[in-house]
Amino acid sequence: MCPVGGGLVSGGALFGRATFVAHCLLVEMAKGLVLVDTGFGLADVATPKELGRPFLFATRPELRPEQTAVRQIEALGFDPRDVRDVVVTHLDLDHAGGLSDFPEAKVHVFAKEHLAATTRPTLQERERYRAVQFSHSPKWEVHEVEGDTWEGFGAVRVLFDDVLLVPLLGHSRGHSAVAVRDGDGWLLHAGDAYFHEGELLDPPSCPPGLELFQAALSFDDAARRENQRRLRSLAKAKSNVRIFSAHSRSEYQRLRDDRAKRV
Ligand SMILES: [Zn+2]
Repeated sequence: MCPVGGGLVSGGALFGRATFVAHCLLVEMAKGLVLVDTGFGLADVATPKELGRPFLFATRPELRPEQTAVRQIEALGFDPRDVRDVVVTHLDLDHAGGLSDFPEAKVHVFAKEHLAATTRPTLQERERYRAVQFSHSPKWEVHEVEGDTWEGFGAVRVLFDDVLLVPLLGHSRGHSAVAVRDGDGWLLHAGDAYFHEGELLDPPSCPPGLELFQAALSFDDAARRENQRRLRSLAKAKSNVRIFSAHSRSEYQRLRDDRAKRV
């Protein structure tokens, strides 16, 4: 996504081009493939107007088929039908668009998020969730916010031995992070709990336009800020938990480069 506002939203040069990724994570497990978040899908590429004018105007997404999760999974040599489970941080249109490319997969989500996305009770929720992205009747696996503790976070749902749903309600009603075991440590896909890598630093920093954008999008802004504080403490305390947001391009590139070195 290349929103208007340049440096005011992404940092760097004031009139530079702001770019945000939609970071999906593919997990290879013995039982099959697990996809964390789906970004935009082939249907969004085919008919972008379904994403709604306000979103298209504000974020100017570059929608190309080869950038979708399903095409990238194929390019890696996998069969997309082996994606048996999809775990979503939340169901905003830039995270759920690819669901219809994996119609047979179970879709794991918190109950509050599922209810908000499928009933869209407020004006804001009618824009952020697109009914057309769920029109193929996804195989929902709805989870309550309750369960174990992990690294100081409570009510964590263990989906599989190595994949956890970690509640971070605030950005949306049922927003979560997804923790995936990676060797001796963890990857933590924090979804939209924060957008800019500076927000994990102490003291935190964020370009002003992006801070306003996040506050305006939040279902519960106080909870969103508290989540960021908790993520900052985790980042400080645990070097073996690698936290990244769904939209930071620099975090995405660093992870991709590190992975390329290891493979
Ligand atoms: Zn998002």
